[in-house]
Amino acid sequence: MPKDSLTVAEAKEMLLQVADKIIESEPILTDADRALGDGDHGIGMARGMNAVKEKLGDVDFESLDKLFMNMGMAMTSSMGGASGAIFGTLFMKGGKALAGKDTLDAEGLAALLKEGCEGVMARGGAKPGDKTMIDALNPAAEKAAEVLGSGLSKAAKAVAEAGEAGRDASCDMIATMGRAKTLGENSLGKPDAGACSIAIILRTISDFVE
Ligand code: ADP
Ligand code: MG
Repeated sequence: MPKDSLTVAEAKEMLLQVADKIIESEPILTDADRALGDGDHGIGMARGMNAVKEKLGDVDFESLDKLFMNMGMAMTSSMGGASGAIFGTLFMKGGKALAGKDTLDAEGLAALLKEGCEGVMARGGAKPGDKTMIDALNPAAEKAAEVLGSGLSKAAKAVAEAGEAGRDASCDMIATMGRAKTLGENSLGKPDAGACSIAIILRTISDFVE
């Protein structure tokens, strides 16, 4: 049965599935970052997600914002580097948008993605088109705002598709941020590694809700 809202306990279960999926996807993320960066994105994300599993594992969170903020803190403190701050900010700022809520619905998903995306842009200075994870996250956040009336499972599916389309569109962008910047036009033809992570995270959320 597709779900139109998740309890805090269900949302935690979902985030643990996200963690497992990213850990399982380490080779894909490593390859993506090897093509355009230094090849450590898969290892960093897997390390972050193992820390998330440890941090969330035995705790019963009283609210969604605490759950998502703990996920972000676990990533920031375990991953280090650019992507630790970037992905940690996504979940910490996004989580803040859920303060006071104890169920996650389509509106909550839209708020999480909007605030998370704005937080990452403020923190790291990347804009849409710079060939970063923003190029998957921003279209996903825009789609979530568009479809929030359609219920969580339909919204999550549309959001996952927008994230994957954004990841694919990043192939046609020239990197202007981070390590890939030095490649200039040679960064064309490959997706951004962080955008690949975002696409996996959003697809796993959709599959869970489904
Ligand atoms: P590092 O660049 O330190 O090696 P990772 O390889 O783990 O870190 O992550 C690289 C990813 O981080 C990039 O593919 C990109 O999506 C994302 N990224 C890097 N800098 C920024 C930024 N300023 N804003 C948003 N995302 C960024
Ligand atoms: Mg890297």
